[in-house]
Amino acid sequence: MTEQKTMELSFEFFPPRTEKGTDNLLAVHSELAKFEPSFVSVTYGAGGSTQEGTYDAVKSMLAAGSLAAPHITGVGSSRDNIKSTIQSYSQLGVERLVVLRGDLPGGMVERGHFKYAEQLVQFVRDEFGDEFHIEVAAYPDFHPESSSPANEMQYFKRKVDAGANSALTQYFYNADSYFSFVDQAQRSGIDIPIVPGIMPITNYATLTRFSDACGAEIPRWIRARIEQYQHDEASLQAFGLDVVTHLCFDLLDNGVPGLHFYTLNRIEPVKELCKRVGFEQVAS
Ligand code: FAD
Repeated sequence: MTEQKTMELSFEFFPPRTEKGTDNLLAVHSELAKFEPSFVSVTYGAGGSTQEGTYDAVKSMLAAGSLAAPHITGVGSSRDNIKSTIQSYSQLGVERLVVLRGDLPGGMVERGHFKYAEQLVQFVRDEFGDEFHIEVAAYPDFHPESSSPANEMQYFKRKVDAGANSALTQYFYNADSYFSFVDQAQRSGIDIPIVPGIMPITNYATLTRFSDACGAEIPRWIRARIEQYQHDEASLQAFGLDVVTHLCFDLLDNGVPGLHFYTLNRIEPVKELCKRVGFEQVAS
């Protein structure tokens, strides 16, 4: 499937908190890097809670030859702090940033200078010009704070007009939700690539808790099946692989600009999903 190799493939990781987690992340990155992704990204705790971990992971991935993109969150941080964080990434040779508002960690009340991602995108453009390719977030199933679909699209457009080059979506399991979002975006004059975020299905409790919090809808039939398999790991993994493979084919058949996988710092099932949809690993 050479056609699919020309589109953007990217992998998202989170910064480890322990030495064991660091070793694991480097092993996972090394294995998935054999798919030759366009870039990899590393999440960032709002308010700077994972600052060093994100920086160290990005540094290691760059050294290993990947185009590594740190996530930058605005909420709870000062302009100076964010500016110096981005300067340190510039010195490392980072070329791409994933720019987000973030959510305040529990117990933190000071929202900081940047209320919305739009302002942070504008700040990066004002301070750093065109040095970075800027990714922003998009929500096919709508953001939990969304006041209306029309308002959300208007705010998304403002983020794009402030200087975003492309968008990565929150995960979803209904391809129509993504296609409807892209259609509305195009009607609103937004022409940047909107790359679907793909979340593997690996654990009932974690996925349902996270989805309830972030507003990503798990269709009822999928929710019922993974609930049924919650204590039967083999069946849950097999079912999850089938559902997500089908979703990826649906997206690819309809010409998406790429796939962005949430790896959860695990080799499987992302490796298996990539293989099933036609990506090939190169020998290391
Ligand atoms: P925004 O674009 O600012 O939107 C937030 C909400 O405010 C939306 O409901 C929007 O409609 C509304 N809004 C926007 N502008 C306005 C306005 N002017 N007036 C009124 N309402 C407005 N979180 C982390 O902490 N760290 C990460 O590394 C991280 N990585 C992520 C990666 C991806 C691909 C995605 C999809 C999400 C990620 N998140 C991360 C989660 C994200 O930070 C949260 O979803 C957060 O609540 C919103 O961030 P945003 O950048 O989309 O915010």
